[in-house]
Amino acid sequence: MAEKTFQFPTYFKLLLIIITTLGKIVTAEEISAVENISDKLRNDTESLWKVSRDFGNIVHEVPAMVFHPASVDDIANLIKSSYSSPVPFAIAARGQGHSTGGQAMARDGVVVDMAALRRERKKKGVGGISIDVYGEYVDVGGEQLWIDVLNETVENGVAPISWTDYLYLSVGGTLSNAGISGQSFRYGPQISNVLEMDVVTGKGDLITCSKQKNSELFHAVLGGLGQFGVITRARISLHPAPTKVKWIRLLYSDFSAFTRDQERLISIKALDYLEGNLLMHQGPINNWRSSFFPLSDHLRIATLITKHKILYCLELSKYYYHHQSQENVNKEIEELLEGMGNIPGFYYEKHVSYVEFLNRVRSGELWLQSQGLWEVPHPWLNLFIPKSQIMQFNSGVFRGIIFKRNITTGPVLVYPMNRSKWDDKMSASIPDEDVFYTVGFLHSTGFDKWNEFDAENKEILKFCSDNGIKVKQYLAQHSTQEEWKNHFGDNKWKVFVERKNQFDPRMILSPGQKIFNNNNLQ
Ligand code: FAD
Repeated sequence: MAEKTFQFPTYFKLLLIIITTLGKIVTAEEISAVENISDKLRNDTESLWKVSRDFGNIVHEVPAMVFHPASVDDIANLIKSSYSSPVPFAIAARGQGHSTGGQAMARDGVVVDMAALRRERKKKGVGGISIDVYGEYVDVGGEQLWIDVLNETVENGVAPISWTDYLYLSVGGTLSNAGISGQSFRYGPQISNVLEMDVVTGKGDLITCSKQKNSELFHAVLGGLGQFGVITRARISLHPAPTKVKWIRLLYSDFSAFTRDQERLISIKALDYLEGNLLMHQGPINNWRSSFFPLSDHLRIATLITKHKILYCLELSKYYYHHQSQENVNKEIEELLEGMGNIPGFYYEKHVSYVEFLNRVRSGELWLQSQGLWEVPHPWLNLFIPKSQIMQFNSGVFRGIIFKRNITTGPVLVYPMNRSKWDDKMSASIPDEDVFYTVGFLHSTGFDKWNEFDAENKEILKFCSDNGIKVKQYLAQHSTQEEWKNHFGDNKWKVFVERKNQFDPRMILSPGQKIFNNNNLQ
């Protein structure tokens, strides 16, 4: 009988926490579903500590409990128990906690540690990754890591086509944002490559959705910042996996030549990946995201930086297959790059395996971890900027604020994308222009220093607002509903609120995004 296995202390603790945190008495009957899952709730110091922090290491919010689901039903039961309580408790799915502003936290609520589900599935040998027989798509659990999706699919000669730069992120986590990288200009962000999903909504219902079926939920969840449901399965489209990658970096001193070439290259379907970043004395020549430039050239590059203050590095890649010859690929790229405005004599290239290319950030991470430098504060700022305003951004921010403040920066990314590869019905909010840039300030800092970067980030946002630069934050960190309204714009906000009322009417999910916490919908 259920009573025999009932674990009074854990149950009691949850009850107490709900009473103390919400100030109202919630009876055992009202959260009856918890009875099935109470043994998966933890509140030991280690479990709480782990989920009270994230990659940003700036925001720290302690939940009442951590939930270790062993199945999708467990997640549904947990959400149902909150939904049916007179006073619901907040719930946040936590993929890898690689957010930088507490987005996967739930102060005084319950954090669902999706890694526990991943471990459980592995233990049972019921993998959360399953490729269809024709190799057209892969079904992956929302708790799975992209690195495992890559390894599993490549082994079968196929692979997803759109990635993030770093692969130790969870599928549910990146699909809740967008999942962007150098492939996005051509293949769209990761959310544009999802065919179907299973989602546990804020009412605890497990619903399968796609563009054809329950499309409102499908569009809501993609880029939906965890507000509408927990993604428990995503069907991702597959392509034949390339085997090799030709990977090139070119240097520019002139920002207009750099952006002109970037924009030309993203307007044609010749490349598979295009990014860009800044080289300045404020940051190292090689960084943790990838060491590419040979040591023997560092002095030459540093001299050039001294002369121009900033170099813009264009990074591009072309994938190829084992039946294609390297010579042909070389020739094709040579023709493509003819007439480009880069600095002659500073051309760098590599041929690497497809997996090595996609997993390029991992070695830097491991090195930082070995130095104890991975778990430092990361006051990141990620922006989308309309193409028509990127020159103004360069002069005001790259050549203005960054120089004036002169603090050591981490990698600064800058590369364009095509709006046509995004689906505006999805929740992700992007600029209105056909081409927009992503700019990422990926700072790492000491525990006593992150305030300086925070101030710099705020100055950048103020500069944009004062000068009418219509930026959208990616991985946005807004703290008031007014800011979120601006983020989405009037129409999109209206839809976002309607969807929230439909799929999570009691505002249970992902409170760390700070969108609906005050329950004050307008
Ligand atoms: P978490 O931080 O755990 O969660 C993020 C949000 O999603 C939270 O609100 C959470 O509640 C919600 N969530 C988590 N799982 C689910 C689920 N299954 N269903 C519904 N909601 C869920 N992003 C890019 O787009 N491109 C990059 O190249 C890129 N590179 C990165 C490199 C590094 C080193 C780091 C630290 C981050 C990078 N990111 C990049 C950002 C990253 O995509 C986001 O931080 C993402 O949220 C991280 O995934 P996660 O699994 O850790 O999510």
